[in-house]
Amino acid sequence: MRIGIVGLGLIGGSLGIDWVAAGHQVWGVSRKLETCQQAGALIHGSSTDLESLAAHDVEVVVICTPIESIIPTLKYLAGSLSPQVIVTDVGSVKAPIMAAAQEIWPSFIGGHPMGGTESSGIAAAQAHLFRGRPYAFTPSANTDPQALQRLQALARDVEAEPLVCAADVHDQAVAWISHLPVMISAALIRACMSAEDPEVLGLAQYLASSGFRDTSRVGGGNPDLGTAMAQYNKTALLQTLARYRRHLQHLTHLVETDNWGSLHTLLAQTQTQRPCFVQPDIALNPEAAALCNTPVPIDEES
Ligand code: NAP
Repeated sequence: MRIGIVGLGLIGGSLGIDWVAAGHQVWGVSRKLETCQQAGALIHGSSTDLESLAAHDVEVVVICTPIESIIPTLKYLAGSLSPQVIVTDVGSVKAPIMAAAQEIWPSFIGGHPMGGTESSGIAAAQAHLFRGRPYAFTPSANTDPQALQRLQALARDVEAEPLVCAADVHDQAVAWISHLPVMISAALIRACMSAEDPEVLGLAQYLASSGFRDTSRVGGGNPDLGTAMAQYNKTALLQTLARYRRHLQHLTHLVETDNWGSLHTLLAQTQTQRPCFVQPDIALNPEAAALCNTPVPIDEES
C-alpha cells in the first residue's frame, strides 16, 4: 500500500519504520527540513510540502502531528487529495477531532495507537513500538467498512491489536488510564520538589529508585502532549481528577486515624485489581475477569 504520514515524530516515525518493514511504500511530510532529512533514512521519502502526498498517489494518509495541528492539516490536505484516499490520525483524543474532521472529510476514521515513550521527535522513533498494544479506531456513520478493514490490517502490520470504539467512550477511558496518570505523576514530582529542607530534598533525589521511576515516568514526558491532552479532553479529565481527589482524601483519613486495618484491606484490594489494567490476558481467567468488570461503588470508598 502507498501510505502518507504527516508529522514525522515519535509516533509517525515509528509507524513508518514498521510499515516499511512490512513492505509498504511510505512517504512522509514534516514541518522542518532537518526532520525530513533524518526521516529519509527510515522511509521512502519525505518533504515539507503537504501536496507531495498527492503526487505520490498515496492510498492512505495518517496524520501524526500534535493534536492542535490535526484539523488544520486535514483542511489543507482536503484541497489536494482525491476523495477515495483513506484519511486517519493518531491523536490521543478522539471526540473533538471526529466532530471537526467529519465536516471536512466525511469518511475520516479516527485512530489511536496505544504506544509511546517519554521521548518525542524523529530521533525517538523506533521499530516495534506498538507490538502487542491496542490500536483504537473510531469510525463515523459515513465510514466505508472496507476502509476500516484496510486500516485494521495496517494496525496488524505494526504488530498492534486493532479495536473499534465510540470516540466519546475512548476519551473517557483514556482520561482514566493515560491523562489522569500524567496529572498525578506531575503532581507527585511537584510535591517532592516542595520538600523545604535542602538536605532532605537532596537525599530524596539520591535515594529515588525504581518505585519513584515508575510513578513519575509520565509526569516527565512531553509537556506539549500533556497540555494538549488536558485541553482537548478537559471534561473527562476533570471527572477523573475529582474522583481521584476523593480517593486521596480517603487514604489521608485512614492514615490520620491510624486505621491500619482498613488501609491494609484497601491495599490488598488494589494489589488484586492492578492486573486488571496491566495484564492484557486477564480476560482469559473468568474469576479475574469478573473482578475486573465490577466497578467499586463510591459508597465503599469512604
Ligand atoms: P512528536 O514526537 O512531537 O511528533 C510530532 C511531529 O510532528 C514533530 O516531530 C513535528 O516535526 C511534526 N509537526 C508538528 N507540527 C506539524 C505540522 N503542522 N505539520 C507537519 N508536521 C508537524 O509527538 P508524538 O508523541 O509523535 O505525537 C504525535 C501525535 O501522536 C499526537 O497527536 C499525539 O496525541 C499522538 N500520540 C502520542 C502518543 C505518545 O505517547 N507520545 C501515543 C499515541 C498517540 P518537525 O520536527 O518537522 O517540527
